[in-house]
Amino acid sequence: TRYRAWYRSGQWQAAMTSDNTITLPEGSQALNYGQQCFEGLKAYTTVDDRVVLFRPDLNYQRLNRSARRLMMQEVPERVFMEGLERVVRDNFAYVPPYGYGASLYMRPLYLGVGDNLGLKSAEDFLFTVYCSPVGPYYKDGFKPISLMVSSYDRAAPRGTGHVKVGGNYAGGMLASQEAREAGFGEAIFLDAATRSYVDEVGTSNFFAFTSDGTLVTPRSPSILESITRISLLEVARSMGFKVEERPIAIEELADFEEAGCCGTAAVITPIASINQGPLNYQYGDGVNAGPRTLQLYERLLDIQLGKDQEFAHWLHPVPMD
Ligand code: PMP
Repeated sequence: TRYRAWYRSGQWQAAMTSDNTITLPEGSQALNYGQQCFEGLKAYTTVDDRVVLFRPDLNYQRLNRSARRLMMQEVPERVFMEGLERVVRDNFAYVPPYGYGASLYMRPLYLGVGDNLGLKSAEDFLFTVYCSPVGPYYKDGFKPISLMVSSYDRAAPRGTGHVKVGGNYAGGMLASQEAREAGFGEAIFLDAATRSYVDEVGTSNFFAFTSDGTLVTPRSPSILESITRISLLEVARSMGFKVEERPIAIEELADFEEAGCCGTAAVITPIASINQGPLNYQYGDGVNAGPRTLQLYERLLDIQLGKDQEFAHWLHPVPMD
């Protein structure tokens, strides 16, 4: 089942439905002008059999940052959390029985619903939550990938690159396809304003380790503020790593010892190489993750599966009855 909450005439009204279609007027802002934003997070079972969401408060804040950027009505926290919890509760039984580690990928989606072709905000809005089962984090999934520096930009400079809106993904699809057709696992984007700095990787954020063991990750106005990345940096600091958020020039790619990317879907994926035409930067032996990347990955998984006390407060238990 799915959750639908309509904002009409200044009021929110919510209902559960089993219908996987939504009906919108063809003049809707979401359909014509991309007045649309969304979130992605996971619900899963911990080792002690709780069903939890990972830091949904941050997804809530990010959805409303995206909504404000698109002049949309903010979604109330109670609507966001109720939608997530009800959809988890109603659908968790349908997760394939992988045991712990199996998860439900949750997709909160927020649409501007109008019926006039003026280039201005909708007055009505539809917030929906739906979900899809995804596999567990098997170690086998933790394989280094090769990246291709994209010839496309992910998002418009000084536009909406820092928020999670559908419009950004139109360009991203083309870039990912370009990389796959060229035999790479994913595209890595440069900043669109100057094309001199590393921005992010497909639908994940970039990080690397310098030769002195510092964890570096781009500071850029056009990367999506990844919740996995914020968590990774905090965990790394607590483990004693030196962490730097700063612009990363393309030339620096030649000097890193380890590189990886992080996001909700894969948590952390090690990077084996980054290719830019005749230039090919390689990290580690190309087959195994670097030791620090592996250390961070295992710690994040422990936290997510409820095996860690220090960051236990990041897990939001979903009441299941
Ligand atoms: N960048 C982009 C463009 C993304 O779509 C995602 C996935 N939400 C990320 C980074 C990673 O963010 P998160 O850790 O919040 O999933």
